[in-house]
Amino acid sequence: MNDLNLRKVALRYQAMYLPVEKAEIPTIYEPTVPLMAFTARLKENGYCLSEELLHALSTVSIQTLAEITSIINEALGVNLNWAPLVKGWDTPTGETRMDHLITFLANLFGGEAAGIKGTKLPCGHFIPEGTFPLERYNGCPYCGTPFMTANFVYHGQGSKLKELRLFTLEDMKQVFHSLLASPTPLDATQLDSLELLLDEFEVPEDVEITMKETVMVVIQKGKVRGENGEVELGLRFLKTPTDILRYFWYEKTGLVKIIEPKYLIERERKNNTHPWIPMDESEEAAEQKRNELKLKYNRLECRMAATWLNAVAMTAQQAAENMNPKRGMWVRMIHALRLGEYSRRKGFEHLAEILDVFYKQNYETWMGKLDRAQRANDKATTLKMLCERPGLFARCLFATMLRFGKDDTLKAFETVLDKLPARLILSLGNNAELYFDPSCPRTAHPITGGTVTIEPNPLLTLYSDDELEGMAKAVKDLYAMAMRQRFAQQFTEHKTIYIDPQLYDIPVSVGDRTSTIQDTACALQGTRFPVEGDSVRLFMQWGKDLPAQHLDMDLSCRIALQGDIVEECAYYCLVAPGAKHSGDIQHIPDRVGAAEYIELSLPELEQAGARYVTFTCNAYTNGNLSPNLMVGWMNSAYPMTISNETGVAYDPSCVQHIVRISEANLANGLVFGVLDVAAKEIYWLEMPFTGHTLRDLNGNVVEALLKRLKEKLSVGQLLDLKREAQGLTLVKNPKEADEAYTYEWALNPANVGTLLY
Ligand SMILES: [Zn+2]
Repeated sequence: MNDLNLRKVALRYQAMYLPVEKAEIPTIYEPTVPLMAFTARLKENGYCLSEELLHALSTVSIQTLAEITSIINEALGVNLNWAPLVKGWDTPTGETRMDHLITFLANLFGGEAAGIKGTKLPCGHFIPEGTFPLERYNGCPYCGTPFMTANFVYHGQGSKLKELRLFTLEDMKQVFHSLLASPTPLDATQLDSLELLLDEFEVPEDVEITMKETVMVVIQKGKVRGENGEVELGLRFLKTPTDILRYFWYEKTGLVKIIEPKYLIERERKNNTHPWIPMDESEEAAEQKRNELKLKYNRLECRMAATWLNAVAMTAQQAAENMNPKRGMWVRMIHALRLGEYSRRKGFEHLAEILDVFYKQNYETWMGKLDRAQRANDKATTLKMLCERPGLFARCLFATMLRFGKDDTLKAFETVLDKLPARLILSLGNNAELYFDPSCPRTAHPITGGTVTIEPNPLLTLYSDDELEGMAKAVKDLYAMAMRQRFAQQFTEHKTIYIDPQLYDIPVSVGDRTSTIQDTACALQGTRFPVEGDSVRLFMQWGKDLPAQHLDMDLSCRIALQGDIVEECAYYCLVAPGAKHSGDIQHIPDRVGAAEYIELSLPELEQAGARYVTFTCNAYTNGNLSPNLMVGWMNSAYPMTISNETGVAYDPSCVQHIVRISEANLANGLVFGVLDVAAKEIYWLEMPFTGHTLRDLNGNVVEALLKRLKEKLSVGQLLDLKREAQGLTLVKNPKEADEAYTYEWALNPANVGTLLY
């Protein structure tokens, strides 16, 4: 067993894994010198230890203590270069566009050789006297190449310590089980944790996996482990032909959604388009993707596909209908996987039957019938058919309400409520208000990257505002009713409940996908963080482990003032009302990466009349965001230092939230937080966008998302429903409660998920 993987995962739940038995932890704790040194290091990084963990640590070796320290250092990037381009960057350098222009001309005319006074820098650029104040820079102010790196960070300026708990092997197995069985899709952090744990544990026999992506990851890990793992796990978890197609396509593209090749090629083209034509690589990238997506399978893979499809527990008619929506892809797959050949062999009779029905197309699809009924305006048949497929009914509920009226539609829908997963009903409630508001454009994240605005349904104009409000309210009531019913049906002997007040700030996740990885805590999208002091410091570090090269990433923010006025703080505008940028780095030094910061001053923002500040990062270099990029923000009740010698301004103990951009990220820009200036709160959220600068980011899009986040049901509200339905009494102390829902409990989103079964 590799303890390193278990420790990495535990840290995300604000815990530390130790291979100890709870019963064997000594009750008396002997402070040893190494353990005292270890706790001091942790404190510098913003952590303290629970009593239980402290006692358990007194039994472990010095090597283990060192290993834990290095995991935390790694997660917080303590050993990287945190020097930005400008020293003491809280005092602006006063550089202007004119400085850039004069330097450009001086270099054009030959610099020193032309008799101009100035300095030649290691990057080859000549900086004329009287332009940039060179003593203020760690590198070339003209091309953004750093010449100096720093090997230190600040420590211990944070005002809040995070308490680490103890996780034993049992706790880790429970995390593993909860991830596998999660009724909501796993986000990037959870998926990464699942993969780390799949390396350590066998998939338990009794677990039921409902999420498609989880199934994909589990089977793929089975393949890596070798032997018959892949085939066996596939037989166990792939239940329809679509599941099988999904697995093969996932293997090729890493995507769970079955997206046709033409869209994938188009996305590649878009991500590699550059506004400056000589740097545009879109055609080459599209061609490369096209080659990548060509289907080619070996004997083993063909046999595996044939075995799986042959074992599908559906009639040939049902299977063929299931294959119908992706007919074109199936035709190519059947050929590439030589399924025709297998269908003639003994033992593959079911496969032969399926292919026969599929090719002869002698089946009328259910979707075809539904479509016919809808077009004929046949209300009774449409609703009756939709009741046969509750999941589909849920997805088109709003449109059906607009088409066939609220009352009849909801009456039909109520009859299938108990067949739907609770998370789906919840997401309906979350979305209803937005859908039925004709003035409110909705946002979606299509696979080709970025965020698009969806126009409201044209049928909305047929109804009055009151009628629409009535529709939204009816859907909301529906899910409150459904949840109460569900909770009331669960038997409990418990009498009292504790609900942590912080849980009212955490929205229930119903599958909002995030693509960043959070190594130090798992926060859910929409979680609000209070701002304690007068400043918030954004940071970005990138290029770790990469050789020196041109790799231009930009940290920026957008300040929404009163009315439509928006100010930006970015590489092209280093000073804005209430915001200061640490300078634009375009080339990274060898292996240790580079950093950019933005300091936000709340009093100055207030004075300027700022309402929101949106935090963004994006790639100026072609392609997707660098995988080795970390972004986040710091906050402390105490002042946070900025070095005058190096400009280093990072202190891990002040980090409030930090995320790592995973390779799964598709778009080349990301909104990672919004500061509500008046409320002194930061929302963590994740919204991709394309385009090479911040200017493309539409303010309305951000507002629409914030509105949606605010309207979401919080974990606290969900527990309130449970409390009411089960007649539990609220108590103030978690230790006195039969059921205690603490903040730590909610750190595992899979725990919250169990309320939604
Ligand atoms: Zn230069």
